[in-house]
Amino acid sequence: MKNMLKDPKIIVKPGKKVKVADFDPSYKGVLNGKDEGVKLLEENVSAMIELQDKLYADNRNAVLIIFQAMDAAGKDGTIKHVMSGLNPQGCQVYSFKTPSHIELDHDYIWRTYSCLPERGRFGIFNRSYYEEVLVVKVHPEYLLAQNLPSVRSVEKVNNEFWENRYNQINNLEMHLVENGTMVLKFFLNVSKDEQKKRFLDRIEDPARNWKFSSADVKERQHWDEYMEAYSDMLSATSTEYAPWYVIPADRKWFMRYAVSNIIINRLKELNIDYPELAENEKARLEEAKRMLEGE
Ligand code: ATP
Ligand code: MG
Repeated sequence: MKNMLKDPKIIVKPGKKVKVADFDPSYKGVLNGKDEGVKLLEENVSAMIELQDKLYADNRNAVLIIFQAMDAAGKDGTIKHVMSGLNPQGCQVYSFKTPSHIELDHDYIWRTYSCLPERGRFGIFNRSYYEEVLVVKVHPEYLLAQNLPSVRSVEKVNNEFWENRYNQINNLEMHLVENGTMVLKFFLNVSKDEQKKRFLDRIEDPARNWKFSSADVKERQHWDEYMEAYSDMLSATSTEYAPWYVIPADRKWFMRYAVSNIIINRLKELNIDYPELAENEKARLEEAKRMLEGE
């Protein structure tokens, strides 16, 4: 299995200024086609099950997996396929929506904290605090509802404001990593044409109608602004300790395989194995064995 962690077509090199347009949404690496992708994903899912079991038994590291994307890029499907078969006890998914009134009464990270994964577990964020420098950057008027002392009007929202938010996010992630949470960040990069195709599929296929939202088509009108916000965000928040991976999303089979490849290779870096018992604990096992056998 080719390790994709260093693939320059996928990773955002920390400190480098990038644009979304630098990344090809239909890139497929060295894979030949769907059959190969599906087979490799299956192998990776089995490998992940074992790695998760060790992570859980070891109970020291947590893994936070963040998905950001434009609508219809395939966040839900990727979560479903890549995480299939994992032990549900060791894995939780959170979807972040427009903040509630209660959430707006706190700083924008507040709602994240209670959703962070416990040691030994995976936490999956379907959208995240990154919305605060994406949708909110495209619609700065949303900031007014946050009642920030520094933002009494939209005119107050300048570059420095966004730079500060990127720094706040980098600091948060540094804090998490230093305290035992691995932070994996995936931007599922779908092209504008492919998004249109998927919206039309949702309209035409009755089984998919429920997935369609006319608000998504309205948001699509802001495509270029989103791409700019994503480009700035990727450039500012891809760090050595929590880099961004831009996953080509026009081919679903490749997207799912690439995400699983990166998760596995990052987990392997942790070098986790089942915990070994101390000598006195081993002696206790022997004693328990004797007791059971003597019944
Ligand atoms: P799906 O449509 O596949 O069910 P989704 O993630 O698009 O999944 P929706 O309920 O359609 O879910 O959308 C959630 C909306 O909440 C998105 O438009 C997103 O931009 C918005 N959102 C999430 N976090 C924030 C935030 N902090 N501030 C403002 N809007 C946010
Ligand atoms: Mg949606």
